[in-house]
Amino acid sequence: MTAPLALVTGGAGFLGSHLCDRLLARGESVLVLDDFSTGHASHLAHLADSPQRDRFSLRQHDVTQPWPADLPPLRRIYNLACPASPAYYQQHPVQTTLTSTLGLWHALEAARRHGARLLQASTSEVYGDPEEHPQAETYRGHVNPLGPRACYDEGKRVAETMCMAWHREHGTEVRIVRLFNSYGPRLRPGDGRVVSNFVVQALRGEPLTVYGDGRQTRSFCYVDDTVEGLLRMMDSAIEGPINLGNPVEYSVLELAEQVLRLTGSRSAIERRPLPPDDPKRRRPDIARARHHLLWSPQVSLEDGLRETIGYFRRLPDLDGVQPFSTMNDPMANASSEVL
Ligand code: UDP
Repeated sequence: MTAPLALVTGGAGFLGSHLCDRLLARGESVLVLDDFSTGHASHLAHLADSPQRDRFSLRQHDVTQPWPADLPPLRRIYNLACPASPAYYQQHPVQTTLTSTLGLWHALEAARRHGARLLQASTSEVYGDPEEHPQAETYRGHVNPLGPRACYDEGKRVAETMCMAWHREHGTEVRIVRLFNSYGPRLRPGDGRVVSNFVVQALRGEPLTVYGDGRQTRSFCYVDDTVEGLLRMMDSAIEGPINLGNPVEYSVLELAEQVLRLTGSRSAIERRPLPPDDPKRRRPDIARARHHLLWSPQVSLEDGLRETIGYFRRLPDLDGVQPFSTMNDPMANASSEVL
């Protein structure tokens, strides 16, 4: 492998693996660190036989542990490592908190040593259950620091704090993006997030599990749009934060109806209790992204869902999917098939 310029933590994950594809396609060399707790080497397996193979490498590593001393020279670090599904991260709250704090600290230390620029994948969850709508970057949020989502929300908030502190103290270049509900192919079928849950349930003819009354809203951003935003932000001259999300807002019930229509499924809709602290509304104000990055989402929910449904239809073992509560033991996913 030639000297890698871009390091992607969490690069075997849903978003990270798409980012790797784009970086490689535009000629960059890429090194991935991933512990396979929610990512999987199969997301990158197609690279093994590709012409880009000699510009890509993958190491199994938990970012909260001391980082390998023999990293090749790095120019850019995309810090994506962190579970993003509430169902998953609430089962691993300590490790989730550590990933956004200790893991980021290691990443920033590597950025300082290598003189690299670091992009931090933050989240709309820093706004908590927002009292302002839509959410602009100036809104400071409404987060319960003690609730079951706090390991993720507060972890990502302190990660933003640490990026700016590190920048002020060490001069390291940082970029911060706040991502709003990305979805698309390579979401894991048992991930627990709403899009993968509904698509899998619809394809299997099982009831779609709507939490609460289904009137809570989200703004779903197709993965290609999100990745384009990440690349533009990394290349930009501003630290951020910048919201990256699709400003078209849907209720969870509307999402369920779209999934039923696009799959042709006759599944029923089944109500389940609303999880604690579940945000009632979420929609990004993307004026900053439009202005600074000339970025706005290009893929409609309908088109994005068609791609996502096609992906899940092609998965060979959809019927064998375990519920999210039992499939996510990190050791069960640990793998020696490292590229
Ligand atoms: N949700 C749902 N059914 C599911 C999974 C999620 O109704 O099977 C709801 C959840 O309560 C939330 C929204 O869908 O209001 C988005 O949940 P997700 O876990 O995808 O991400 P969040 O935006 O909450 O981080």
